[in-house]
Amino acid sequence: MKTLIREATVVTLQDNHEIIRDADVAVDGQTISYVGPQKLWEENFDRVINGQGKLLLPGFVNAHGHAAMTLFRSYADDLPLMDWLEKRIWPAEGKLKREDVYWGTMLAILEMIKCGTTTFSDMYFFMDQVAEAAEEAGIRAVLTRGLIGIGEMAEKGLEESEQFVKTWQGRGNGRITTMLGPHAPYTCPPEFLRRVMLLQESLAVPIHIHLAETKDEVERITKEYGVSPTVFLKNIGLLERTVLAAHCVHLSEEDMDILKEYNVSVAHNPGSNLKLGSGIAPVPDLLSRGITVGLGTDGAASNNNLDMMEEMRLTALIHKGNRMDPTVISAREALAMATRESAKAVFLEKVGIVAPKMKADIIMVDLQRPHLTPQHDLVAHLVYAAQPSDITMVMINGQIILENGQLTTLDEEKIIFQAQQRALHLVQ
Ligand SMILES: [Zn+2]
Repeated sequence: MKTLIREATVVTLQDNHEIIRDADVAVDGQTISYVGPQKLWEENFDRVINGQGKLLLPGFVNAHGHAAMTLFRSYADDLPLMDWLEKRIWPAEGKLKREDVYWGTMLAILEMIKCGTTTFSDMYFFMDQVAEAAEEAGIRAVLTRGLIGIGEMAEKGLEESEQFVKTWQGRGNGRITTMLGPHAPYTCPPEFLRRVMLLQESLAVPIHIHLAETKDEVERITKEYGVSPTVFLKNIGLLERTVLAAHCVHLSEEDMDILKEYNVSVAHNPGSNLKLGSGIAPVPDLLSRGITVGLGTDGAASNNNLDMMEEMRLTALIHKGNRMDPTVISAREALAMATRESAKAVFLEKVGIVAPKMKADIIMVDLQRPHLTPQHDLVAHLVYAAQPSDITMVMINGQIILENGQLTTLDEEKIIFQAQQRALHLVQ
């Protein structure tokens, strides 16, 4: 399948500032084959799309989340973290069946595609169903079976992880990749983390872990092991692997130096951190050290949507307010974090930039909107003013998944019906 998009305005993300006006973008199969000035094409295309008045950019990469938690959206709000988890989320999660996770994930994918997300990184359980949903929907996914290292489920989790990685790595025409997911330092004791590291050596996939999300976590780990969660992971050798750390809210200067030294990538989840009262991650300090920071929504029970435009805007706003400095996290930095940097953070080399040889994961935004007029600065528009409803086209791996608001691979009505019915059963 060959597609040509004509006369679009392209934000390439190749560097932070490059915008090409009246550009042609050609896609051959799964890959972008041309980005540049309009030209007379001699070759034939299967589809030609008019890009006039549209902004074309890489799709958003959601670097950290728990997709099926859409089923708990608005079920547990405005609660302290431990009440949220112990009284609401864990009891409801205990009732989850495979089919629930499938439909909860489908609901998440539906929402994410409509919000311009072309890749999501997920940590949950019943991951075969998550992978099936991603494979069917056509979205790119980086999937992790979450592991709790205490109790009787620990062993089973390791076995399932190994099976999951062996079954799904590279499936869906390469759209699905996998990681190993020890949940967090406070749920995974050292002996268990060593088991994960052994498994990691044989499977050679990255590790995805929650790190320093709350002050309480730092206090618990410091009390138990005498060091911060970051130093704890370093001391047992885990940071020598390829690691994505989610949250990283409560870090010391030493912790940040360690993350840099070990090339750990970070998923920043501003909406979730604010809503759960966890705090504000020191993102300007991570960026100034050259650490790769992507953006994530976390699960819909602590956000409560999966809209990466909102995360991007929060990122560009909260650090300015927090530091009382309007120059902190520019619109360009926020957009890069939601796309190119997030792709890097989840270890996808061919995603996040609109350029030849990159995967054709792109979206188009309609600029003919009151809130996007006039067009002094298109990147500022994307970060500070654009809305998901401005998105007119989503292409993933060269396949158009959303066009003029219509989904090509998903039955929206059926997904909403199934998710609604199943969610009600879980909280009865
Ligand atoms: Zn999380």
